[in-house]
Amino acid sequence: MAPELVAAAQAETARVVELFEAQRRVHLTSRPPDEAVRRDRLDRLAAALGEHADTIVGAISADFGNRPLAGALAGEVLLQLEEIRTTKRSLRRWMAPFRPQPRYLRFAGIKAWVEPTPLGVVGVISPWNFPVALAIQPTIAAIAAGNTVMIKMSDLAPRAGAAVAEAVAQRFDAEELAVVCGGLEVATAFSALPFDHLFFTGSAAVAKHVQRAAADNLTPLTLELGGKNPTVVATDADLRTAARRIVAARLANSGQVCLSPDYVFVPNPSLAEFVDAAMDAGHRALPTVLDNPDYCTIVNDSHYERICALVQDAHDRGATVREVVPAGESLPSRQARRIPFTLISDVSAGMAVLDEEIFGPVLPVLGYDDVSEVIDFVNARPTPLAAYWFGPDSADFRHFTARTRSGGVTRNDFALHASLQGLPFGGVGSSGTGYYHGKYGFDTFSHMRAFAVSPKHFSPVSLLSPPFDHRLERGLGFVISAWSRRFTKRVNPRRPSQASPEVGP
Ligand code: NAD
Repeated sequence: MAPELVAAAQAETARVVELFEAQRRVHLTSRPPDEAVRRDRLDRLAAALGEHADTIVGAISADFGNRPLAGALAGEVLLQLEEIRTTKRSLRRWMAPFRPQPRYLRFAGIKAWVEPTPLGVVGVISPWNFPVALAIQPTIAAIAAGNTVMIKMSDLAPRAGAAVAEAVAQRFDAEELAVVCGGLEVATAFSALPFDHLFFTGSAAVAKHVQRAAADNLTPLTLELGGKNPTVVATDADLRTAARRIVAARLANSGQVCLSPDYVFVPNPSLAEFVDAAMDAGHRALPTVLDNPDYCTIVNDSHYERICALVQDAHDRGATVREVVPAGESLPSRQARRIPFTLISDVSAGMAVLDEEIFGPVLPVLGYDDVSEVIDFVNARPTPLAAYWFGPDSADFRHFTARTRSGGVTRNDFALHASLQGLPFGGVGSSGTGYYHGKYGFDTFSHMRAFAVSPKHFSPVSLLSPPFDHRLERGLGFVISAWSRRFTKRVNPRRPSQASPEVGP
């Protein structure tokens, strides 16, 4: 690295530590922010985003090379403004203390309640593919819960990072909300800070480093990761609609979405028809590729090379590769960083395209005869963030969801389970730990602090400390045997079967 870049990284790393110490000081020396302060911060965040929307979206597009305006405005800005609006609407209710107190304790004169309290200083690490949305959305929840926040933007979207840093700095003191940018050195220093909660969105490979760094401080972590999202076309699905929607989903952001369908299982008798329908959908979606402003470019050369290498590896190992190349265009284009919609069939074990997250406009298609083959395939791989099913509600659909795990499930569409209000968003197993959005995010960034008060005339501690009243032992023995008789009566004399019925709405 050039000496001036080294010096800049060192200066930013030192600033990161100073910012953290300043935020920690504020947290330790002031009362938790009340509702009015939190509302004001949310308003200022909305203002920062809204006022700079064009600059921010322009910066994202410049980082990518080309990013369609409508998708960026909706996904990066509008959805965040909407999240702020709905968070403000529910904030008072979420913040309110609540009393989950058993009646017999109330009877004894004991009072108990829970107060959601801020954790302190929260760190947010965001990826490049939705660089603003995935920095701001957890920040909204963390601010609502009364925390101060430091955001580390992705170094692969440097212009977007700078635009967000500038917008936030105009509206916030760095002791409330600070944005830092930078490469690996800054990222490593950031994840080593003793945050009260660290929220990471990115790859499983980097998450392991972040988790190790967090372990040194016992910092609690939320991990929002990716993976290979299985998609199943059912035997009774409307094949053309399924093909059109799956291709549309794969082409969103040119496949650079953590929730993208990563591979598709189609019933063997319908495989050829599905391939034709998907290619047709690809042609209709992209009449041109090279100069098409509606088509997102691949973010950088190394990701472009990585995706092309996945396709080449599949081809070299005997797969059939079909590309949607408009007449007169030569694709893929390294210079333009554009890859056409690519459908890969005749795939087999050992091909990298079946093992690595593709994160590009490439769709492997596999055939199946029985849904159990799909289930075995999914369960032999890391747990995905999303699972998709195309077809009506059926015994096969319920069997599939009951026997596999995923962060969420959408039937007949793309990413709905992750975008509808009121639903938690997060992975499970290798696709992540924890969840957020709405109240789930508020709770993630809150400590549920328990309070209890004993009355003057009675303390339950007297049950635990000498001297003991031996009448009490007899009384306790009586209660235990009465309760156990009640439970024993309910126990099924036959061992319950392992299999329970599959449920659904
Ligand atoms: P990445 O893991 O390479 O980087 C994520 C962030 O971590 C960046 O800000 C980066 O600067 C930082 N980082 C890199 N090395 C670090 C280190 N050693 N210590 C601390 N921080 C470090 O991920 P990416 O390439 O930016 O994003 C793509 C990945 O993110 C894909 O796997 C995708 O599926 C996943 N993703 C998940 C979600 C979700 O919500 N679950 C959303 C978007 C992307």
